[in-house]
Amino acid sequence: MRNSLFFILKVAIVVAAAVWLAERPGRVTIDWQGAVIEIPFGIAVLGLLILMAAAALAYHLWRVLAKAPASIDRARKSGRREQGYKAVTQGLVAVAAGDPESAKRLTDKANKLLDDPPMTLLLSAQTAQLEGDDKAASAYFDALRQRPETEFLGLRGLLTQAMKDGDDLRALKLAQRAKALRPTSPWVLSTTFQLEVRLRRWTEAHATLNAAIKHKAIEVEPGKRFKAAIMIERSREEEAREDMAGAKEHAHAAVSLAPYFVPAVVREAKLIATAGKPDKAARLIEKAWSHEPHRILAEAYAALHREDDALSRVRRIEKLYRLKPDHPESLLALGVAEYGAKLWGTARSHLSKVSDLEPTRRVYRKLADLELAENDDGAAARKWLALAEGAPLEATWVCGTCGTTHARWSAICGRCGAFATLEWRSPSGRRMDAPPIAAARAALEDGTPKALPEPQEPPAVRQAIEAHTP
Ligand SMILES: [Zn+2]
Repeated sequence: MRNSLFFILKVAIVVAAAVWLAERPGRVTIDWQGAVIEIPFGIAVLGLLILMAAAALAYHLWRVLAKAPASIDRARKSGRREQGYKAVTQGLVAVAAGDPESAKRLTDKANKLLDDPPMTLLLSAQTAQLEGDDKAASAYFDALRQRPETEFLGLRGLLTQAMKDGDDLRALKLAQRAKALRPTSPWVLSTTFQLEVRLRRWTEAHATLNAAIKHKAIEVEPGKRFKAAIMIERSREEEAREDMAGAKEHAHAAVSLAPYFVPAVVREAKLIATAGKPDKAARLIEKAWSHEPHRILAEAYAALHREDDALSRVRRIEKLYRLKPDHPESLLALGVAEYGAKLWGTARSHLSKVSDLEPTRRVYRKLADLELAENDDGAAARKWLALAEGAPLEATWVCGTCGTTHARWSAICGRCGAFATLEWRSPSGRRMDAPPIAAARAALEDGTPKALPEPQEPPAVRQAIEAHTP
């Protein structure tokens, strides 16, 4: 509406101007260097207008032509960049798919097309990694690290490489720099924690663990378990350098975090007993025993009073036994103590009950020892030893990662270096129901044992206690 109004107005002005000129005829005379041109005034005005329009058009054309090379160059560059980024994307996909040939080809293409070092450096580094060229990958990651905007990316690559090479010290240095750049990154926190633990830097690991829990890099429950493990290790180190106050403090902290975690309880009990309070230590073990009997608790309990004779030890263990009278560990602890005191009848009764409830190699061997010690009955002993052959191994500390068995609990698996993975179980898995015990027994009633007797375990409880006391 507005536009058409303007159009009508413009037409009206032109018509009015034409009419005005027509009504006022006249001529324009140009006299230049003796040449005289005479033209009507209206034509002169029209000619002037056409001349001005032609000049404007010419100027516009000149401008377009002058800019053309730059525009063409821009379009060409934009095409190259597009192709380059496409090559980077495809290259990263090839890396993810584990296709080194395509990754290499696309990396070369991206490098040719793009003038964008961060993008191509990352792709080059990942391709080199895929090709197994760690040296080249490190060089690319190092180049990334030199640029402020990609420093973190470079650190991450170098850190992963260092960990792969088993260079934990260098990895930790890189992790600390990454932590300074991104203090709340879950990956940085959990990696730093992993490295500090591996290097047994317990104080730093504890601080990092707190930050990791706060920023949800590690969940609260496993976090508590990890803390308890760290406290036990700190306590052990402090005891080793005779800082008994520190050792006790951290053992107590471990028990506060995990009240029924056997290594924590045993550690604190041992330190309390060493400080001259065996009864207090005993109460700590009794509390944990009431929750869940455990062989290591029984052994630590028996070791609290080193001056005890065998009979006093039996009386002491009876107290533990009465807290959980039907539990196989209670029966076993008492049976073993009675065996030590040469109370053959009750020892046999308790050990036989264990062999019915939870038969393990250790129980059968103990019964074999008993046959020899009480009656010097080699035939009966061999029967028990034959049963021992097919029985599951007794529980011990087994690494959940590599399956290695350990006589003593430790926060770090001595074999694979995994942290807090030791669990109390039979090394062959929980096979407590495995051997057809009744059938095997019946078959052995009359016949001779099929397997040769194995060398006997040292019968003394003391040796086992010493091996297991943290
Ligand atoms: Zn392991």
